[in-house]
This record gives sequence, structure tokens and C-alpha cells, in this order.
Amino acid sequence: MSNYKHLFFDLDHTLWDYERNSEATLRLLYDQFALSQSSLFTIDEFIRKFTEVNERLWDLYHIGKINQDHIRKERFRIVFNSLRLEFDSIEEFSTEYIAECPKMGMTLPGAIELLEHLTGNYELHIITNGFVDIQDIKLKTSGLDKYFDQVIISGHTNYRKPDREIFLHAMSETNAQPETSIMIGDSLESDIRGAKNVPMDQVFFNPKMTSHQEEVTYEISNLLEMKALGF
Ligand SMILES: [Mg+2]
Repeated sequence: MSNYKHLFFDLDHTLWDYERNSEATLRLLYDQFALSQSSLFTIDEFIRKFTEVNERLWDLYHIGKINQDHIRKERFRIVFNSLRLEFDSIEEFSTEYIAECPKMGMTLPGAIELLEHLTGNYELHIITNGFVDIQDIKLKTSGLDKYFDQVIISGHTNYRKPDREIFLHAMSETNAQPETSIMIGDSLESDIRGAKNVPMDQVFFNPKMTSHQEEVTYEISNLLEMKALGF
């Protein structure tokens, strides 16, 4: 066991498998909206295009250029336009995606095993950027909720990661001290720089082993490596 007392986890792409859950939702809606009949593109092309557009929009969000409402409104319009499909139900499709995706319960490989290992030895919390209703559904459906004492969602506050204020808010909600706390997340910008702003230690979860220049306390490519680090 390490000297840390409070472990703060990010949710999307760190514990909740955004990519697989999103893909499962797109497959579901592709059938539901009978998109295969258009024969303009395959499900795989559709998924690829959505992933590309969605990631580009989230990058813009992370540097403060657009807000989450903009992502919700625009992403499928851009996808269908670039796939050259005249589709009248874009808004409905978008609404369905937002309703269905959080109900997909897939977690990242090793997530549950790690949490089972940590629970009881540490106080576990979440700090996530997102809408309160959506993040709540993800936590419940995936069964992740039972491991966490406190869930801090940006939608509850006026701040979002990497703002120092959301981390300070999380510390006060949990009676945690920065010296005995650590942040675990997949985003260098939101999670790692945010934690450094406090300052508190960080675990950078980098499953694709993307190269970077950031100094981090620990770096892992698989969640279960936390065990080898002594957690
Ligand atoms: Mg994340």
C-alpha cells in the first residue's frame, strides 16, 4: 500500500470505455435508423468518420474554443454532411445517441479488477468533466458507482478540469490533502496539468503510449500497472 489516502479518478477514457460504448451505440442507431439502406457508407466508415469528427470537436473543447452544447449539436450534422447523406432526422439521431450511449456499461480493461483491489485501502473518488445526468447514468449502468465515495462532476460546479478550483472543491468535499492525494487520468491537459495546478501527484494513463514532453509522477499504459506501482 502506498502513502496516498485519496485516489481521484477521471471517468471517460480512464474507467468508462468511451470508445467501445460509443461504437456500440452507433451500431445500434445505424440499424434503428436503417442507414444501411442508403448504401452510401458502411457501418465501419460511419464509425470512423464519427470518431474523427468527435475527437476533433473534443480537442477544440479542451482548448476552450467551443462548449459541450456545440459538440452535441454539430457533430452528427458534420458527419452526415461529409458522408454526403441527406438525412432529415439528424436531430433525432443526435438525441438518441446522447440518450443511449451512457447506458452502455463497458469499462476499460482491468478497471473493475483494479477498483476491487483498491477498495477498502483508499478513499476513491471521481473528478469528471461532463453533464451531471449523463455521468450519473454511466456510473450506475457500468456498476462503477459502488466504488466511489465522492463523485465531482463539472456540471455541478462553475468549473471544469484543468481549473484549479474544481480540484480544490473536490479536496474540500472529501477532506483530502494534496500531499496524500493523486489524480489518475488519460488527459495530459485536463487531468495531469489540472492536478499539477493544485499541486498534487498524477498517474498518466496512456494506453496508446502516445509520446509527450510532460513530466508526470507516474505513467501507465494498462490500469493494472497501478498494482506494480505499489497501490
Ligand atoms: Mg478522460
